[in-house]
Order: sequence, then C-alpha cells, then structure tokens
Amino acid sequence: MENDFLKGRTILIVEDDLSSRLYLNKILEKVGVVILNAGDGQEAVTIALNNPDIEIILMDIQLPVMDGYTALIKIREVRKDIIIIAQTAYGLLGDKEKILNSGFNDCIIKPILSQNLIEKLIANLKRK
Ligand SMILES: [Mg+2]
Repeated sequence: MENDFLKGRTILIVEDDLSSRLYLNKILEKVGVVILNAGDGQEAVTIALNNPDIEIILMDIQLPVMDGYTALIKIREVRKDIIIIAQTAYGLLGDKEKILNSGFNDCIIKPILSQNLIEKLIANLKRK
C-alpha cells in the first residue's frame, strides 16, 4: 500500500489551533508517522533544530510568538534539506505565491483533506 511510504518517518506539525492539531495528528497516526508537535513558531524552531530525524514540517503561517515565515528562515539557516510545507487558510489563497517565493517547498490549503495531505507528503518526499 502506497501509504506505507510514510511509515516511521518523522514529521513536525506546527499548529496553534488545538482542534486542527489533533485532526492532523489523527491523520498521520493512521499511516504510522512519528509525530512531533509545536504550538508556535519559536517552539517549531527549537524542535526542528534539536531533532535531526524530522523530514517534513507542516507549518501553519499565522502563529503566536513567531509567524511561519520567520520560523522557516530560522530553520533554513541550519537545516537546508528539510521539507517545509505551509498550511494556509482558504481565504488567504493569494498568499500561495508569497509562500512559494519565501522558500517553502509546497503549500496546502485549509481545510486539509486527509487524502490530499498524504498525497502531498509522499509527492514531496519523492521529489527530494
Ligand atoms: Mg494559526
């Protein structure tokens, strides 16, 4: 099964909204991902720089303490190889170009559908 492709891989979820975070955790648990969680941009930077196993970061853009753009820059200074996918709200669709120009590998529009997320993770890992 294609979904086995994600089994055992480490992914950092950066999301300040608790229900959204739980939802993403549930999707990734089902396919055997090792999940780390951060609730703000500063925490995301700390966790990313202390866990070399992380292959993908699912980064919310609007975050407390430090936004997703700033967190991306700080993580990229040290981890150039890591795949960072922005999560952005549907109403902010115009941000997609800005996101991709800022150095994110990809972007996923909220609300996030399970199959869409899994396909995007696999596609980004295969592209690497
Ligand atoms: Mg947010």
